[in-house]
This record gives sequence, C-alpha cells and structure tokens, in this order.
Amino acid sequence: MKGNCKLCKKSFTGRAGKIFCSLSCKASYHQKLTLVTDVATRDIDKILHRNRKTLLEIMGKASTSKKVDRSLLDSKKFNWHFITHTHINSQGKTVNFVYDFSYIIFSDQEILIKKIRP
Ligand SMILES: [Zn+2]
Repeated sequence: MKGNCKLCKKSFTGRAGKIFCSLSCKASYHQKLTLVTDVATRDIDKILHRNRKTLLEIMGKASTSKKVDRSLLDSKKFNWHFITHTHINSQGKTVNFVYDFSYIIFSDQEILIKKIRP
C-alpha cells in the first residue's frame, strides 16, 4: 500500500492503514497532540486543581465526610463553575465531583463534602 505520511507528507509504502512514514513521525505527531492539549487545558486544570486543594484543606486528612457552610468555600475562593462530573443520587440530588471529592449543596446553603475512597 502507498500513502503519504500524515506528519511530514512524504510518500511511503507499507501495510494497509499505516499513516506515518516512520516511528519518529508517529511519535512527533502524538507529542504535538499532547502539547497542544496541555496548553489548551492548562487554565481550567489549574482551577480544578485549586478546587480540589480547597476541598482537601477543608476536609483534612482524617475524615471522609464533612458538612460545612457554603460561605467557607466562598471565603477560600472555591470556583463553583468548574467540576469534573456530576451524578444524580438516589434522593434525586445532584452530586458534584472534583476528581475524587464530591459535594452536595443543600437548600440551607450547607455543603456536604465527601472523599471517595480509593
Ligand atoms: Zn513522516
């Protein structure tokens, strides 16, 4: 099979489905993807990491569950817009996740933070 390298555009012959002329072009291509992804996600990753640090700080190492007032998270500049995923629990409440931490916001503005066990 003849083709043109996806990275350097050089023509090559090889097995069907081959898209790079060499292992080094394949590696460079994936390095570039990794690099542009790192740059594009850096700012949001920073916010998410900061949010996780805040939850860890509030929780401390000893406990796996803690109820606090929303204002405590606000005072630590917790960014409510950035979470990693959500889940609806059996009571129909939205559980917000920041990596391995979760929190539920109650109507009285109390926050139940939990750490997921590994
Ligand atoms: Zn190439």
